[in-house]
Formats: sequence, structure tokens, C-alpha cells
Amino acid sequence: MPIQVETLSLLNAVQALALGLMLWAGTHGDNGPALAAIRLRALALGIEAAGYGLLALQAFIPPAALLMGGNALNLLAQGMVVVAIRMLLGKPLRLKSATAIAVIGWAGVAWFGIVDPDYRLRVLWGSLAITGNVLLNIEALQGGCRDSGTRARCVLLWVYLLAMALVVWRNGALWLSGNPPDQVATPSPINVFYVLLSGMQPLFASIGFLLLYNEILRRELHDLARIDPLTGVANRRAMGEASDRMLDEARAWRGSVGVLLVDADHFKNVNDRFGHDGGDKVLQSLVACIQSILRADDIVGRVGGEEFLVLSPGVDADGVLALGERIRSTVEREVLQIDGETLRLTVSIGTAVAGPGQWDMPLLRRQADAALYAAKRAGRNQVVAGAEVAA
Ligand code: GH3
Ligand code: MG
Ligand code: MG
Repeated sequence: MPIQVETLSLLNAVQALALGLMLWAGTHGDNGPALAAIRLRALALGIEAAGYGLLALQAFIPPAALLMGGNALNLLAQGMVVVAIRMLLGKPLRLKSATAIAVIGWAGVAWFGIVDPDYRLRVLWGSLAITGNVLLNIEALQGGCRDSGTRARCVLLWVYLLAMALVVWRNGALWLSGNPPDQVATPSPINVFYVLLSGMQPLFASIGFLLLYNEILRRELHDLARIDPLTGVANRRAMGEASDRMLDEARAWRGSVGVLLVDADHFKNVNDRFGHDGGDKVLQSLVACIQSILRADDIVGRVGGEEFLVLSPGVDADGVLALGERIRSTVEREVLQIDGETLRLTVSIGTAVAGPGQWDMPLLRRQADAALYAAKRAGRNQVVAGAEVAA
């Protein structure tokens, strides 16, 4: 097929530039690591576009400048993509590895391109650099096709595996053919196909990148909607979902779940003494104190202003009272430092137990609530069992 490599390169340049501009425009007016990653990806596309631009203008550029300039731009863009993907995924950036690959790759291409010209070794050397970058990306994306909810990682993994296949194929064809062409721009079928597919790679990789970005944002939103911003623990909505899950599991295993409602005593006085901001710090310390007692399977969530729900799987009626007592006494002993002053806080706790014959969470909450109310009426700083109150 008589396709000109210059024409293909020009199309690739326009495509990469347009993609880069679109990505950049989409990051307007916001900040954060995910958007910084998109900007870096957009810049990399701009640099890729410049690389293809050079190839398109090869007739007007001295061969050595074309070789060194084009490879410098490509290697720089690939290194930036490695960093951008890692930034997006919150992984270590591997700046040193990416820089080393770019520098060594470029030096090798210079050696086999200008100092000791050998087309096949030059392509092999450049391909090793591409492979290094692709492996860094694959390592960052690993598990993508196994973990549920990460289809975008899977898409990107396939894009990079395709890139690897292309590199292997190109080298294979080059080393197997007895008479290798001496220019990448020579319009042999393999070169044309290589330039065409590697030119489409920015498009595929950018779509994968955007899918990944979308997936990460969706997960962040999902988590944000379930986390109490002040204390960082689950909010009422997340606790509703967690209790459904935990009760279903306990019912399947004929187990039990301890339910504890913990309410700070006389919290209005804390706010009166330290102000609302001081009160907020006390709430954060209270949560830390409760968390220090809980096991890995237990969950604590904020279900009211100064009211917390604790769910503890595998805990029976005696166990829930013991856990409540541990929380109560630990909070009582804790000396809180707020704005240079000390404060001792106490909590009242109402409990209930989900178990065979009793799996109705709203009823359990009402039992624990009634018990909490009883604890308050009895003078606060105590633990009362819900079943006792109900009886
Ligand atoms: P009790 O022992 O009966 O529970 O007394 P209390 O003062 O703790 O009870 P009450 O429920 O009447 O008051 C709770 C207070 O908690 C009132 C409210 O201003 C305060 N509060 C609720 N949410 C927050 C918050 O997010 N930050 C701060 N600083 N205070 C809060
Ligand atoms: Mg209170
Ligand atoms: Mg309250």
C-alpha cells in the first residue's frame, strides 16, 4: 500500500497534539495529584506530537539531528507517561529509573546511529528502552485484570502489551530479514505498519488513561460519600451498609454481632469551654481512643454529632458489655490536651446484640438507644445492656 511515512507522521503529530490539548483543557482550574497526572500526560502528548512532527519534516532536517532529536523527544515523552501513570495510581514515581532509561536509551541510539552506525542494533537498543518503560507501566498496573472494579487498568495493560508485541515484532522482522532497510522512514510494509500502530498508541493509551482517571475519581467520590470528614471514620450511610453486610455474614455463620452506641457526656460543656473548634479536636481524640481498643474486624462510625456506633462481629451479650466497659474506662482514663489545657471526658454506652432470632438492625439500634438513654439517666459514664432495658 503506497502510504507515505511523512503523511502518517503528520497525522500522528496532529492527533497527539489534539489529544494533548484536550487533556490539558480538561484540567482547567483544579488541583490535586490526579489532575497533575493528567497535565503531565498532556505534556507528554505534546512532546510526542513534536517527535512525529520531526519525522514528518525529515526531508528538511539533517539525518543526525532527526535521529537524536526524534529519539530524545520520544524517550522524554515515554518517561513522562511512566511518571504520570504512577502519579495517578498513587505509586512511587520511579523518577530515577525513568530518567536512567531515557538517558541510556538516548546514548545507545546516538552510539549506534552516529558513532558506530548499525541500524539493527540502534533499533534494538531503542526497543529495550521502550520495553523498560512499558515494563514500569505494567508493573504499576499489575493486578488490573484480576481485581474487580478496575477495568481501566486492564484496558491500559492491553495497550502496553500490544506495544510490547509491536516492538518484538519489529525487531524480529528486522533481524530475520537478510537485508534490513537503513532508515525507519523507508516505506517498507513493516515500517509503515509500525509508524501507523505506534502513531495510534497515543490515542489508545490516552483513552485508557482517561478511563483510569474516571475510575479513580469515581472511587474517591464513593469513599468521600461514606467518610465523616471531621473524624475520618465511617458516616451514617457507610454504617448502614456495613451493618447490613456484617449481619448477613453473621446470620450465615450463625454468629453474633455486638452493637454499641457511644455518646460523649456533657459535650455542650466542652464546646462552651473550648469553642467549637476545640470541641472538634476532642471528637477526633475520642475517635482515636475508641479505635485504639477495637479489633481489625470491628467498625466504628459517627452516627450523630457526638454519638458513635461500634459494630463488633463474634461478640455475645457478655462480650459486648465487656467491650463497652473497656471503651468507657479507657476514655475516662485518657487525659486530653486541647489548646494547652487538659480535659477529661466520659462517655455513656448503650449495647445490643444481634444473634439467632434477632437480626433486625433498626430494632437493635432502638434497644441500644434506649440503653444509652438509661445510662444517661442513671448518671452517665456507664454501660447499660439493651436487652435489660427492653425487658
Ligand atoms: P449528654 O451527656 O446528655 O449527652 O449531654 P450533651 O451535652 O453531650 O448532649 P447534647 O446532645 O444535648 O449536646 C451535644 C452537643 O454536641 C451539642 C452540639 O453543639 C455538639 N456537637 C454536635 N456535633 C458537633 C461537632 O461536629 N463539633 C462540635 N464541636 N460539637 C458538636
Ligand atoms: Mg452527649
Ligand atoms: Mg448526643
